[in-house]
Amino acid sequence: DGVANQIAAGEVVGRPASVVKELMENSVDAGSRTITVNYKDGGRSLIQVVDDGCGMSETDARLAFERHATSKIRRAEDLYQLASFGFRGEALPSVASVAEVELRTRTADREIGTQVVIHGGRFVSQEPVQTAVGTQFLVKNLFYNTPARRRFLKEANVEGRHIRSEFLRVALCNPEVAFSLYDNDVLIATLPASNLRQRIVSAIGGKDIAKNLLEVGADTSIVRIEGFVGRPSAAKKTNREQYLFVNGRYFSSPYFRKAILQAYEKLIAPDTQPSYFLYLTIDPQRIDVNVHPQKTEIKFDDEQAVWQIFNAAVRESLGRLGVVPMM
Ligand code: ADP
Ligand code: MG
Repeated sequence: DGVANQIAAGEVVGRPASVVKELMENSVDAGSRTITVNYKDGGRSLIQVVDDGCGMSETDARLAFERHATSKIRRAEDLYQLASFGFRGEALPSVASVAEVELRTRTADREIGTQVVIHGGRFVSQEPVQTAVGTQFLVKNLFYNTPARRRFLKEANVEGRHIRSEFLRVALCNPEVAFSLYDNDVLIATLPASNLRQRIVSAIGGKDIAKNLLEVGADTSIVRIEGFVGRPSAAKKTNREQYLFVNGRYFSSPYFRKAILQAYEKLIAPDTQPSYFLYLTIDPQRIDVNVHPQKTEIKFDDEQAVWQIFNAAVRESLGRLGVVPMM
């Protein structure tokens, strides 16, 4: 139902960057090795995501726009696995209800692909098309049929900044996938498939980052923590290099941030910020992400225990440096 989809769109699609995130995550889920994103006018006029993943059959391509038509809940145990990623089968129908969407896709066992066109949630056409194996989404004129929401969009440079930050978050979670990002057809980022350390280096850039990353690791019955923190001597004036991920998705947590900052206490000047890229793996039953699909906060059952594990893991890797406190 069109209205239900538009309402759901209000939940899932806050701005162009949320479309980019949903499409990129779908491409990752489809087993892609290479994902290319292009946007124009801050994503207002165009968002394009091209992947070389498994593609969709003719039937699946059409069904993908039906609500709750997720292919990702096949078994009962998937249901709780996927609970950790929030809403299921909402993204495509939501996006399609507030934009002009073209999907081109082909599976490896077909010579010819299929193209589905949907405008404002209304099916326009489906026809055969020559296309590479994988999937290509074109999302044009976002919110063209919901003028109030279109007016709420910020200027292109602001929306573009949000897109770039979502792009980085997804890329930082999937180092084994190659990503490219174009702004108005101009290549602005290219990240080759690599290991996690290399991905952080190429995603964040800067000449010194490679030698400033210290490995962090903790493996407890509650949570596994992997990743890197920056050397105290490389602390920044900004908090732009602070990333937390849980089960392969970005999240924000002022509470765990403190666990990390506290480990740096007396090692860095009070007005500087450590870099961190920390990846948690936890039983999805021990967290609650169903707060809101656009929100990045997550509730942890064992919040205090996880805080301690964080703090200890970061302390341990800083301790290996044998740095003498500054004050
Ligand atoms: P969800 O990701 O929660 O399953 P979506 O609405 O994002 O829901 O996508 C619906 C379905 O469309 C997916 O479950 C998947 O089967 C299919 N799909 C979407 N994007 C792709 C893609 N890039 N490659 C292959 N299949 C896709
Ligand atoms: Mg999805």
